[in-house]
Amino acid sequence: MTANEAISEETMLRKQSITPPETSTPSPSPSPSTPTPTTISASDSELSEIFFVENSRRKQSIKIQVKLCPEGVYLRRETDEDDHINEQLIRIDDIIGSRYGPRLKKRARGGLNSCKNPNGPGQEAAPEPDSDNSAYLYIYAYLKKEKPLRRVQTLRILRFRSSNDYGVNLKTAETWHRTIRQHKRSNGSSSPADTGKQLLILLNPKSGSGKGRELFQKQVAPLLTEAEAQYDLQITTHPQYAKEFVRTRKDLLERYSGIVVASGDGLFYEVLNGLMERMDWRRACRELPLGIIPCGSGNGLARSVAHHCNEPYEPKPILNATLTCIAGKSTPMDVVRIELAPGGDKHYVMYSFLSVGWGLIADIDIESERLRSIGAQRFTLWAIKRLITLRTYKGKVYYLRATATPPKKSEPVVEMAREAEENPQANRSSLPEFQDLPEEDELDADHFADAISLDRSVYRQHADSWHSAMSRRTAYYSLGGPSLRSNRSRMSITQRIEAANAEFAETIPSGTIPGLQVPLSPGDGWVCEEGDFVMVHAAYTTHLSSDVFFAPASRLDDGLIYLVIIRSGVSRHQLANFMLSLNTGTHLPVGEDPFVKVVACRAFRIEPTGSDGILVVDGEKVDYGPIQAEVMPGLINVMTTSGQ
Ligand code: ADP
Ligand code: MG
Repeated sequence: MTANEAISEETMLRKQSITPPETSTPSPSPSPSTPTPTTISASDSELSEIFFVENSRRKQSIKIQVKLCPEGVYLRRETDEDDHINEQLIRIDDIIGSRYGPRLKKRARGGLNSCKNPNGPGQEAAPEPDSDNSAYLYIYAYLKKEKPLRRVQTLRILRFRSSNDYGVNLKTAETWHRTIRQHKRSNGSSSPADTGKQLLILLNPKSGSGKGRELFQKQVAPLLTEAEAQYDLQITTHPQYAKEFVRTRKDLLERYSGIVVASGDGLFYEVLNGLMERMDWRRACRELPLGIIPCGSGNGLARSVAHHCNEPYEPKPILNATLTCIAGKSTPMDVVRIELAPGGDKHYVMYSFLSVGWGLIADIDIESERLRSIGAQRFTLWAIKRLITLRTYKGKVYYLRATATPPKKSEPVVEMAREAEENPQANRSSLPEFQDLPEEDELDADHFADAISLDRSVYRQHADSWHSAMSRRTAYYSLGGPSLRSNRSRMSITQRIEAANAEFAETIPSGTIPGLQVPLSPGDGWVCEEGDFVMVHAAYTTHLSSDVFFAPASRLDDGLIYLVIIRSGVSRHQLANFMLSLNTGTHLPVGEDPFVKVVACRAFRIEPTGSDGILVVDGEKVDYGPIQAEVMPGLINVMTTSGQ
C-alpha cells in the first residue's frame, strides 16, 4: 500500500464552503496545472501546493490544495462542482512539530499524495516501493476541540514527488518544515528546537503508582520527538536529587531552555526550592520556565495549569500536560515565601506554590497516609472519621488583606470556564472536521522507535555526588533578624557602608513583612483573629489536587493567597457539605457566613497555641509551630499553551 491511499474520501470530505482567511502577505498559489515550484524562498510566509489523495473506493484521485500560512495549514478539497468544497484549518498553535525525509517505515495514515501528478488527476500510478523518489513531510497536530474539551491527535503526511530527484523533493519538504517552524516562532512559541538548548526533564520513577518510566516512554517521549524537542532526562534516584541537581548545576541556564517535572507536586517543590537557593535565583526563575507532567499522586499544579489555559486534563492528563510543556509558551506564576519557627533555634524559609494547611484538611491528608493501600478512598474514610471526632485548634491567625478587590465569589473561575465551553473562542473556527487518525492507541508504535531508551545506567553517573543531600525539610538556611535597614540610623558610617555592601551582595531572596519573631501590629494593616479553629487553609492555585477545586477564583499570577478560615462552632452538616463540594468548587459560602470565611490576602501568619497538630505545605507535613507566608507575585514562569 502507498501513502496516497491512506485517506479515503469519506474521511477527508464533508460538504462545506468556507472562505480561507486573508493572510497578510499572500503569495500566488500555483494552479493545479502549474508544475510545482522546487525552490521556495524561506522568507515566504505562505506556501501552497496541490496534492492528490487516492480514493480507492471510487478509483479516482481527489485534488487537495494545501496552503501553509501564518494561521496554520489549510487543506482544501477541490472538485469539479464548486459547491463541493471542503476545508480544514490546522491551527499553527495546534501543530507541535513536523518531520521531513523519506517515508517512515511503516505505513502512516493521513497521507496526501504528491503535488504534481505526471499522469494527470485520476490516473495516479502507485510508485514502485524501490523507486520512490518522494520526500515526505509529517505534520503532527493535536487539534483542540470543545464539548468536551479535548485534544485530538492528527497526523498529516504530504508526499513531495514533483521531481525525479529525491534531493529536489527533499528540499521542498524541508522548506515546508522550516516555514512551519517560522510560523510557530512568529506566533510567540519558542520551541526547544529553536533555542539550541535542551529541556531538562526530571522524572521520579517512584511517584504515583511507580510507573513513571513506562508512562514517560509511552506517552511523553513520542510527543517530544514529534516536537523535535531536545531533552536531557534525569531520573531521580532519591529524595533531594532534583533539588540538588538544579541548585548545583553551574551551566543550568546556558544548557537548558526550561525544566519539566515528570512527577507529582513533591518533586516540583524540590525544583522550586533548588532554584531559589541558587546565587542566580532571580535570573533562573525569570529565564527557565517550569512545566509539570502529572505522574504523581498529588497533581494540584498540573490540574491548576490546565485550568488556567483552558486545556483538557482528564482522561489523558499526561498527554495533555506534555502538550502544554512543548507549546513553547509560558506565563508568570506566584510563589509564596514561607517562614517557619517550630521552636528552639529552628528557623526555616521555604518556597511554596500550592498551599499551606492547618486543621481539618491537613489532618485528613496526613493521617490517612496509614490507609494508603486502599487508594483514594482513604480521604473519604478519614474525612468521615474526622467529622465524627471533630477537633479544633486554638491560636491566632493574622492576615494582610489584598488591596485590590479580588473577583467576587459569585463570579468565580468556574463560571468563566463554563462560559468558555458554551462559547468557544471566537477565533477558533468551527470548520468541519476531517476525520483523522484514531486516537493515540491505534498509532503505529514504531513511529516512535527512535524515542530514547530509558536505560537507567546512563544516568546513574550523575547521582552519586548528591547522596549527601539533607532531608527535604532541613536543608534551608536560617534567617537573620529584622532588616539591617531599620537599625541604620544608629550605625557608624563604616557600619553603614558594610551593611550597604552586604545588602547589595545579598543573594538570598528576602521577605517584605516582619520576621516571624517580630510581633505584628494592627497599625500596619494586619487583621488578627483569635480563638478556636476547625481549619485554616491557604491556597494560591485553583486546585490542591486533581479533584480538589479549592480556590476557584484564583489565578496563577494574581498575587493573591486565598485564606479559608473555618471557626469552631460550625455544624457537622455544614462541614460535610463543604467537604463534599470541594471537587466542584462550590464549597465556599456565597454570602457572609458566621463560621466560614474566605479572605484574599498578600500575607498571613498562623500562631498555633500548643505543640500538637499538623501543618502542611504543598501537601507535605512540616514542623509544627508558628508559620507565616508572603506572596512573591509572578516570580516564576510556568509552561502554558497561551501567554508569551
Ligand atoms: P507523589 O505525588 O506520588 O507523592 P512526588 O513527586 O510528590 O510524587 O514525590 C514524592 C517524593 O518522592 C518527593 O518528596 C521526592 O522528594 C521523593 N523522591 C524523588 N525521587 C525519588 C526516588 N528516586 N526515590 C524515592 N523518593 C523520591
Ligand atoms: Mg494565585
